[in-house]
Amino acid sequence: MKQRLFTPGPTTVPEEVLLEMARPIIHHRSKAFAELFGKVLEDLKYLFQTENPVLTLTSSGTGAMETAVVNLLARKDTALVIRGGKFGERWGELCEAYGIRCVPVDVEWGDAVDPEEVGRALKEHPEVKVVFATYSETSTGVLHDVKALAEVAKKAGVLLVVDAISSLGAHPLPMDEWGVDVVLTGSQKGLMLPPGMAFISLSEKAWEAVKRSDLPKYYWDLRKARSSLAKGQTPYTPAVSLIVGLARSLRTIREIGLEALWRRHARHAEATRRAVQALGLELFARAPSNVLTIVRAPEGVDGKALLKAAQAYGVTFAGGQEGLSGKVVRITHLGYVDDFDAISAVAALERALRDVGWKVPMGKGIAAAQEVLARE
Ligand SMILES: *Cc1c(COP(=O)(O)O)cnc(C)c1O
Repeated sequence: MKQRLFTPGPTTVPEEVLLEMARPIIHHRSKAFAELFGKVLEDLKYLFQTENPVLTLTSSGTGAMETAVVNLLARKDTALVIRGGKFGERWGELCEAYGIRCVPVDVEWGDAVDPEEVGRALKEHPEVKVVFATYSETSTGVLHDVKALAEVAKKAGVLLVVDAISSLGAHPLPMDEWGVDVVLTGSQKGLMLPPGMAFISLSEKAWEAVKRSDLPKYYWDLRKARSSLAKGQTPYTPAVSLIVGLARSLRTIREIGLEALWRRHARHAEATRRAVQALGLELFARAPSNVLTIVRAPEGVDGKALLKAAQAYGVTFAGGQEGLSGKVVRITHLGYVDDFDAISAVAALERALRDVGWKVPMGKGIAAAQEVLARE
């Protein structure tokens, strides 16, 4: 059966990227690798919209999050963490693991943080050195206002670190222009690659903080990664095949263009939201991101049964995390998705709903999605 992946990581990998990665391995200290890597580093700057170097790490996205914590903070430092979902909470857990004091700003799941509340918390806690935020919170489908958060952080003279693991390539995040100090992402989301790599870029101000950081680290020491960059290398063996695939996916992203890519995600998200509403279902997020649409399972319907019903057609959606387990279906628009993929997702949702006994008019969601998609 044909398999279709609509999960917010991993996402579908385009055929041209898969084929690149199937080629024989090259050595990571060779001239051929240095040339390829040099091109990749330039294209990563385009994706991150920055003049600062973008460092590549061999880990999933969480590795880049941990890297940010251990490189920016010193023992006994205090950080502010915005917690409005599973991934915001992860910032707090990471800080605690290294003995960093946390000032939490808690946000109800489904809501976006009020940047003014962050501003107030920073006034009350002048000891805060770094704010850890999430751009698109993948557990709630919410997009936080990073531009406003950057202004608040700048005013308070603290660093802003943004988890853009699911959002880079899906939503605009002009790092330099907005003054975001650290942006990080992973390979298996908007970059259309398999899991296994992460990327991070730091502003000059953030590099200053790296100098005074004394938290324990070895593999995650970003100073080593930066000095290797000059030689077109990484300090340790990189995920060579993934970098070869990355060169291809970044070329695709350049060919499409960032703006067209953001528009694509916006259209598919809007089409899906309209479809869901036409089916009489409710959206979970009150400030929805274009990365994914989170649909509440209708009253009396088990969200897990709905996932299983879709799976019977080869369609994989993601379920809810933590408190949302069994209550929602998460449908992603991330990465290599075209109009007809987006329509397939809605079609599978309609069928799954009917299969679990929810009376739903077949095609009503599809029609609503088509109205949006056929407009342009
Ligand atoms: C997927 C995701 C992560 C976790 O990344 P891993 O690659 O699983 O380590 C963190 N934050 C957000 C917002 C994500 O979407």
